[in-house]
Amino acid sequence: MFETVLVANRGEIAARIVDVLRQNEIKSIAIYSEADAESPHVKRADKAICIGPAPVGQSYLNQDAIIQVAIAESVDAIHPGYGLLSENAGFARRCEDAGIRFIGPTSEVIEAMGDKVIARESAERAGVPVVPGSKGPITDIDAAHAIAEQIGYPVLVKAAGGGGGIGMALVKRASKLPRAIESCRDRGESSFGNASVYLEKYIESPRHIEVQVLFDQHGHGIHLFERECTLQRRHQKVIEEAPSPFVSTQNGLRDALCSAALKAAHAIGYRNAGTVEFVMAPSGEFYFIEMNTRLQVEHPVTEAITGVDLITWQLKIASGEKLSIAQDELKIQGAAVECRLYAEEPEKMFLPRPGEIGEFSPPEMDGVRVDSGVESGATVTQYYDPMIAKLTAHSDSRETALELAARALDQFKIEKLTTNRVFLGKVLRHPAVREGEFDTKWLERYAKGQLD
Ligand code: ADP
Ligand code: ADP
Ligand code: MG
Repeated sequence: MFETVLVANRGEIAARIVDVLRQNEIKSIAIYSEADAESPHVKRADKAICIGPAPVGQSYLNQDAIIQVAIAESVDAIHPGYGLLSENAGFARRCEDAGIRFIGPTSEVIEAMGDKVIARESAERAGVPVVPGSKGPITDIDAAHAIAEQIGYPVLVKAAGGGGGIGMALVKRASKLPRAIESCRDRGESSFGNASVYLEKYIESPRHIEVQVLFDQHGHGIHLFERECTLQRRHQKVIEEAPSPFVSTQNGLRDALCSAALKAAHAIGYRNAGTVEFVMAPSGEFYFIEMNTRLQVEHPVTEAITGVDLITWQLKIASGEKLSIAQDELKIQGAAVECRLYAEEPEKMFLPRPGEIGEFSPPEMDGVRVDSGVESGATVTQYYDPMIAKLTAHSDSRETALELAARALDQFKIEKLTTNRVFLGKVLRHPAVREGEFDTKWLERYAKGQLD
C-alpha cells in the first residue's frame, strides 16, 4: 500500500479522501487555494500546502504547482477526486512520467473516454447499444442536416469533450441546427479545448441510469449495480439513488444493464473505479452515452447498498492489489438516496448564491451520512462549484430511505446562506418521486411550478 498520497481537489470530496487515507494509515497531503485556508480538507489532512490564489487556473488546475508539491513531498500517488483534473489525460500522463501513481485508469484510457465520439465507437464495437446518432464528429452542415433527418428530430448536439452538462443543445427542427452546432463548438472549444461536436437522437422522457464498475490491474472486474440519477437540472444530477426504482420493476433489466457496462469497460482495458452512463427510454431500452473515468459525486449511494468503500478500493487497486470481491458476493442491501446541497436558489432557475454561512450543523441520525465541504462561519465563493454538502440516507426500503432523507434535511441547520435544502425536502416528499415516476426534465418542471 502507499505511504503518502496527495489529494488534488477541494470541498467535500477532498475531505472524504483525507479521512479514508487516515483510516488506511496513509499520510495525506492536501493542497488548497488562498480562498480555502480554513476548509475541512485542509484542517483534517496530515499536511496542507497552499498552491495559489482562488481562481482554479492558478490553484487546483495549476498542474506545474501540483506536480512540484508532489515531488517535493515524495508522494507515492495523487488522488484527483472528481471534476478538476480527474479526467485530464495530460495530467495523468505527467504523473506517470514523474513516477507518481495517478489514482484512476491510464492516461490512454482517460483520453479515449474523454472524447465521447471515440467512447461511443468503442462501446458500439463491444456490442453495447449506443444512442442512434452520427458516426464520428460532424464535418459540415450539409452532412449534419442529412444525419439529423435520418435519425429524426429532436436531436441533441453534443460537444465531444463535454462534461458537467456543458456543451449540449436540444434541437427540435432543422432551421435551428446550424446555430446549435456553432454554439456547442464554441462551448466545447472554450470549456474543453475541443471544438468537435456530434449528434445523438434525443430520447424522449428518458431516465439517466448508470453502473458503477471496479477493475483491478490483474484483469478482474465487477459491477456494483446501478444508480438512478434522473432528477437533474441543466443536465446535472441533484438527487441520486441506488438501486433504481424503475430497473427494480423490470425483469432481467438489471442483469442486461450491468453486463453491458462490464462489456464497455472491459473492451477498453479499464482499471480502477469508473461509471458507465446510459439513457433509458420509458420502454426500458437503454443506450450508452459516456463513461466517466473517475469517482462519481454520487458514489455514496453505492457504498451504502453494497457496503463496499469505493475510495479504499481505488487506493488498493492503484497500489497493485488484487480485487478480492467476487461478483456473486455482492447483494443489494436496502435502498439509499443522496441529495446534493447547493448554495443556489431553485425558484430562480437554480441561480448560484455564494455567500457567508452562519451556523452549519448537519443532522446526526442513524442511517444518515453527510459529506460536507464547509463549516459554520465559512464563505461560499463564486470561484468554485456551489455544491456545499451531500446528504445520503440508507434504509431497508426505498420508501423509508426517502422519508429518512427528508427528515434529515428538515433537521439540517444552515443559517444565512440561500440553499436548495427546503426544495430538496419537498421533492423527496412529492408523490411522483415517491412512486418513482419521473424523467430527466421532471425536476426543472417542478421548480418552475409546472407540476402540482
Ligand atoms: P457526476 O458526473 O460525478 O455525477 P457532475 O457531472 O455534477 O457529477 O460533475 C462532478 C463535478 O465535476 C461537478 O463539480 C462538475 O461541475 C464538475 N465537472 C464535471 N465534468 C467536468 C468537466 N468536464 N469540466 C469541468 N468540470 C466538470
Ligand atoms: P455530461 O458529460 O455533461 O455528463 P452526458 O452525455 O452524460 O453529458 O449527458 C448528460 C445528461 O443529458 C444525461 O444525464 C441526460 O439527462 C441527458 N442526455 C444525454 N444524452 C441524451 C440523449 N441522447 N437523449 C436524452 N437525454 C440525453
Ligand atoms: Mg454524464
